[in-house]
Amino acid sequence: MKLFEYMGKELFAKYGIRVPRGRVVASAEEAAAAAAELGPPVVLKAQVLVGGRGKAGAVRFADSAAEAGTAAAEMLGREIKGCRVERVLIEEKLRIDRELYLSVAVDGGARRPILLASAHGGVDIEEVPEDRLVRYHVDPSVGVLPYVAREVTRRLGLSGNVAREVQRIIPAMYRIFCEKDAELVEINPLVVCGEEVLAADAKVTVDDEALFRQKDLPYVEERTAVERRAHELGLSYVELDGNISVMANGAGMTMATLDLIQAYGGRPANFLDAGGGTGEEATAQALELLLATGPRAIFINIFGGITRCDDVARAFVRVKESREIPVPVVIRLVGTNEEQALAILRAAGIEAFRNMEEAARKAVELAGGEG
Ligand code: GDP
Ligand code: MN
Repeated sequence: MKLFEYMGKELFAKYGIRVPRGRVVASAEEAAAAAAELGPPVVLKAQVLVGGRGKAGAVRFADSAAEAGTAAAEMLGREIKGCRVERVLIEEKLRIDRELYLSVAVDGGARRPILLASAHGGVDIEEVPEDRLVRYHVDPSVGVLPYVAREVTRRLGLSGNVAREVQRIIPAMYRIFCEKDAELVEINPLVVCGEEVLAADAKVTVDDEALFRQKDLPYVEERTAVERRAHELGLSYVELDGNISVMANGAGMTMATLDLIQAYGGRPANFLDAGGGTGEEATAQALELLLATGPRAIFINIFGGITRCDDVARAFVRVKESREIPVPVVIRLVGTNEEQALAILRAAGIEAFRNMEEAARKAVELAGGEG
């Protein structure tokens, strides 16, 4: 789960990391009032769960309360990289001397937390040359000891009060990382304003599997309405950007189906892993869900193990008889109760495939080729 910037900053403040003075607003009037209270000039930042807002025009400056109101009005309700702006963070505008980068993340390959630091903050960390990055793998049984923080600031070329501040911030970030079950705690940029060091941005991602014990964190809904519905039905559903909806069973089968569609020049719109043992009722609901996403074709690819092919066939026939299906549906079934399934479909005038390649090719063709 990703936290919005303003939530991350609240967390930082609790752990003694300085952040700019600011207010979160949801209307132009509130924005103007907040700007007046903070004292212009101010910076306005769209609260969306995507990065690169600077370049996307989602970080703006205002020299008066009225200007802040106008800027907020332009930002609110707009979409930034597919995310609707519902709140804007208004902060005192900082006089930035330098921008640094600091993060603590999980390094899956090393099976350890990794501390990353750079004297070149404010840009995408991927763009920073490898030799300009300071990396330190943390031994979780030891944590970040003071000498590590000192070594990092030395390698960043920091000195004096700024170095001391950063030496305090690094272990604080690591504490947040551990205590909040985070996958990422990132400050980009960490800004130097004279002798002061503040987090001008905050990115905190919490491990979804740990949310049950992170009840005091605010909950951020990241799923779309369809993803929520699929979750309620106990199905894993993922949105992609093509035009063929896929229903398959099991992760391996689902991935192979997506690959085949791509191989034949098509593009999946989304996929639904109906898992093992999804019965007739859930399958019918899953189908309704895919239909509601408005694809150009639907490809149902079932390898019946625990899932019974006849359940899937009955579910499809039921949906077909209950409503008009506006798009072509390609069905491929093999495995448990395959013969019954094919008979059920045939009785309803539907010819199912048994060969997966042929079925995938057909689905791509019916969707109109390349999406
Ligand atoms: P991101 O692009 O989504 O990561 O948004 P950031 O919060 O990192 O802001 C992008 C850039 O805007 C920063 O790197 C800064 O250069 C600039 N910026 C953000 N806040 C301030 C501020 O208070 N004062 C000034 N002068 N620049 C700011
Ligand atoms: Mn940033």
